[in-house]
Amino acid sequence: MPPRTSVAEFRELVNSSTRILALCGAGLSAASGLPTFRGAGGLWRNHESTSLATPEAFEADPALVWLFYAWRRHMALRARPNRGHYALAELAKKKDGFLCLTQNVDGESRFAARRMACIVLLDNKCFNECGYVDHNNLDDPVCPALAPAAEDYPPDKTLPLLDPNVPVPPINVEDLPHCPNCKTGLLRPGVVWFGEALDEAMLREVDVWVVRGKIDLMLVVGTAAAVYPAAGYTRQAKRRGAAVAVVNPDPSAAEGLSSRDFFFQGDAAEILPQLFEGVIGKMDQNGQIIES
Ligand SMILES: [Zn+2]
Repeated sequence: MPPRTSVAEFRELVNSSTRILALCGAGLSAASGLPTFRGAGGLWRNHESTSLATPEAFEADPALVWLFYAWRRHMALRARPNRGHYALAELAKKKDGFLCLTQNVDGESRFAARRMACIVLLDNKCFNECGYVDHNNLDDPVCPALAPAAEDYPPDKTLPLLDPNVPVPPINVEDLPHCPNCKTGLLRPGVVWFGEALDEAMLREVDVWVVRGKIDLMLVVGTAAAVYPAAGYTRQAKRRGAAVAVVNPDPSAAEGLSSRDFFFQGDAAEILPQLFEGVIGKMDQNGQIIES
């Protein structure tokens, strides 16, 4: 049996839900113009984005990895929240038992859920693991050497950095940001790379929330319910009684859903305000609530 697609039925469920767990992937921020990591926007120059997001890649070529992240930081700092973010933020205001998780590396997703456990692009930390973390660093560019990643270009022109035919600007490792604490390590983006463990304290906090009681609804936005880490939380939420609702333009994201779950195909920025309307009121195109 395929999942349900009725907005009316979903609104009833949101209305009656006390504890809601939301997991937001890169698809939520795509409408804000932020490139997703995988999929069509997954190539950066000729590199798979995922191949640049590892400690090994940083070890081998810290300047290249820093350029990649300096560019992502620049995009994140420039982007504005979309209606999907606003809708989640409004839902968080109305529902005390709302917890939103994201690994999105942009401040917009963090804005969306006041009480979300999140991993942020804007932290830098010591690659030597001396423990130093520079929280919420808003410098753009991160340092003068990374300026080529923070240029604004007209939409019809390609930033030279993104053109694989233009050589990468030469950057000396000495000119990359260094750790002020141990004085020996390079600073690296504070994101969790492939092959690294998520922050333990954060995960514990989420686990405590999850086991506290029945979960009414699990929202999976802009990522696939069957892919980790969403898959693990989806399973736990189901075990605690939750119906799962997936919002994604890609129909394959609905894989594994049952007839008591929901699937809404499309852009979260369009769909979330409609889905939550019964709780948050009507939202205009700018993300303002016009009628509640
Ligand atoms: Zn250090």
